[in-house]
Amino acid sequence: MQYDSLIIGSSPLMILEAIYLTISGKKVIIVEKNNYLGGAWYLLNFFEHKSIESGCHIWYRDKKVYNFLKNEFRINMESCYPQPIIIFNNVRLPYKWKPLIHFFSMIKSFKRKRSIINFIRTAKQESSIVSQYFYPKSGSVELMKKLFFLVEKMNIKVIRNQATKKIVLNEGALTATLNNNKKIHCLEVVAGSHSELGEVYYDGKIEHIKNNFENSNHTIHILIKGHSKKSFSYIHLIGNDKLIRVSDLTFQLNKGCKDSLFCIQITDDLFKEKGNTADTVAIALDELKRQNLVIKNAEVVKYKFSNYTCQYRNFEQTKNIKYKIGSHVRFLNTINLIYSFGRHIKRWKVLDKNRVIKSYF
Ligand SMILES: Cc1cc2nc3c(=O)[nH]c(=O)nc-3n(C[C@H](O)[C@H](O)[C@H](O)COP(=O)(O)OP(=O)(O)OC[C@H]3O[C@@H](n4cnc5c(N)ncnc54)[C@H](O)[C@@H]3O)c2cc1C
Repeated sequence: MQYDSLIIGSSPLMILEAIYLTISGKKVIIVEKNNYLGGAWYLLNFFEHKSIESGCHIWYRDKKVYNFLKNEFRINMESCYPQPIIIFNNVRLPYKWKPLIHFFSMIKSFKRKRSIINFIRTAKQESSIVSQYFYPKSGSVELMKKLFFLVEKMNIKVIRNQATKKIVLNEGALTATLNNNKKIHCLEVVAGSHSELGEVYYDGKIEHIKNNFENSNHTIHILIKGHSKKSFSYIHLIGNDKLIRVSDLTFQLNKGCKDSLFCIQITDDLFKEKGNTADTVAIALDELKRQNLVIKNAEVVKYKFSNYTCQYRNFEQTKNIKYKIGSHVRFLNTINLIYSFGRHIKRWKVLDKNRVIKSYF
């Protein structure tokens, strides 16, 4: 079978690309290395509570994107209450100050070159005329479920549990080889910012694309007895040696549950020291208490560890491929959900001139 487009990975942006290409009449296949879809936005089951967000998430401020999701996908958005914050050196600051705070924290730790690059990147992603952060009423779960629904309704072929390991371009014909050696023939391969490309053969030579550093994210979902929390929505802790991010997912628990659910991303150091043990949970809870995010006698009912690992595409190395065979291997910016959405909306809207997506909801 010959496909028009092979999409590497199944993050929301890659699924959306697959959907829009399908709407525009293309035959599309998604290949996903994991046995679940969603990339960094996959959903997990927390005991009897199904389809809970797997990570601490924030939607950056962009009115155009918020409106697009509201109008096309009928996503029920509401202003985060309270608004997301950063805790930096025990001081609470508005999340929108993140580029500046990052800049100063990196200058302090003598990472000057990275601090400037990071400042420009986050300032670009975080510059907005919208003053407030919005989030779907039932969480990103709503968007993910709608995307999975569309993949099914549109009969988009999905291969899970397999990674593309080799892409060969020979006399205009493109063939991708999967881990199980199955070959997929297609006209283009679409890669996101975290797609691992493996080996790419073109012009009679091989490029071994080595991805940049691996980013391992250790997360604990903790159910706390009763309403023992202080009010917050999403918090990024900069410079904390135990916690990186915390979000309140209580609203995603089954109706009638009287407890509170927190999603906590812990540092690599804490994970290396204590692993996925009750000790780690106790340390994380103590830190939440110290930061005054839960009441002092808060008790853990149950918890679940998970890990999401991804790699950053080597942008330097793929520049050459982009230049030489960009019409066969297309790279999408998917680095940050809302920012990347903003970069693709116009093209997606053109592909969906008959408002097909809207008609599904
Ligand atoms: C833990 C975490 C939390 C984040 N939180 C936020 C947030 O709150 N807000 C925000 O805007 N952004 C956030 N991000 C940024 C996030 O990276 C983007 O929002 C978006 O998910 C990136 O999409 P992606 O396709 O580049 O990568 P990912 O979401 O990582 O998805 C890549 C997918 O491709 C698959 N894959 C890779 N290579 C292959 C291959 N060769 N063959 C088959 N499958 C392959 C992987 O298994 C994975 O499922 C977060 C990232 C992480 C890791």
